[in-house]
Amino acid sequence: MTAERMKMLDLRSDTVTHPTPEMYNAMMNAAVGDVVMGDDPTVNELERLGAELFGKEDCIFTASGTMSNQIAVFAMTERCDQIIAHDKSHIYNLERSGLAQISGVQVRAIKTEHGQYCMEELEKNLISDSIQSAPTTLICLESSFNLNDGLVLDPKHIQDVVEIAKKYGVKTYMDGARILNSCVSSGVEPKQMVEGIDAVALCLSKGLSCPIGSLLAGSREFINKAKKVRQMLGGGWRQGGVIAVCGIEALKDWQKHLEQDHEKAKDIISGVRSAERGKNIVFNNAETNIIRIDTSSFNMKAEKFAENMKDKGILVKVIEPFAVRIICHSDLHKKDIPFVIETILDCVGE
Ligand SMILES: *Cc1c(COP(=O)(O)O)cnc(C)c1O
Repeated sequence: MTAERMKMLDLRSDTVTHPTPEMYNAMMNAAVGDVVMGDDPTVNELERLGAELFGKEDCIFTASGTMSNQIAVFAMTERCDQIIAHDKSHIYNLERSGLAQISGVQVRAIKTEHGQYCMEELEKNLISDSIQSAPTTLICLESSFNLNDGLVLDPKHIQDVVEIAKKYGVKTYMDGARILNSCVSSGVEPKQMVEGIDAVALCLSKGLSCPIGSLLAGSREFINKAKKVRQMLGGGWRQGGVIAVCGIEALKDWQKHLEQDHEKAKDIISGVRSAERGKNIVFNNAETNIIRIDTSSFNMKAEKFAENMKDKGILVKVIEPFAVRIICHSDLHKKDIPFVIETILDCVGE
């Protein structure tokens, strides 16, 4: 390891990105007020931008993607309702059963092929209110799909789900923690991507490099409820403008940054594949910034591969006994791509 690379290159997630120099600078100069009292001008501006970005009436700034998800479901359901989510969704798997704890809803987790609902299966799970069954009142979507290696939901599929939901009078929610990655990948504007969706959340703290925060957008009525739920969960910021200003910075040029992240992912995969030793290594399609490496393709446990990578200065995340994840982000510089490729090739064994 050269001196320059003594510092670990952290590719476990895009959440590890640090605020940009522009963000630090903006934090110093942010106008602030009191968010709970509604007069923090910077938070108000970020929320306005969020509503505009998604073509919704209103928006709130929350502490995290998880908080946005939990607020959204609470505000859109009644206790004991049933809601539909993908069996591999973040909201169902990685939020400490918050849906049960906070909203008291029952989840109908549906198995999906490539992250898309089978429409017949979806329709079967739209249960109507009866003596024996609580009604299904909400369908959740996720794009890009975290536990499906950054897969992008087909915008047409989203519209099919919206249509069926409208037909049954059911609400729709998009967990769009990385929705802007999906937009960049598919060339669809955020507004179009979530057209007809009742509410959508975005993480500012992932590929967008903000230190903290998420946006949740929807109708004015929904956001009014959401504000109360945010307060209940302890998410009422005071001088939130200090953090919100980073979101304003991030929304200025997200396309360019996320496009670059996607390119880095493609460059790493093609770089490995073009080497003689790398021919048999199995990757996902990497439609966005998430690379999955199937370590079974070179007969190695994921833990062992991750250890090898760490010894050489790169952190990756074990996601299955035989799969690791690498996420490309703005703190991974283009000049380090050859190092990443070489290191992967060095770590797969003979
Ligand atoms: C990261 C993520 C979340 C949670 O966001 P946090 O800010 O880490 O709480 C929710 N949904 C999806 C799809 C995510 O990728």
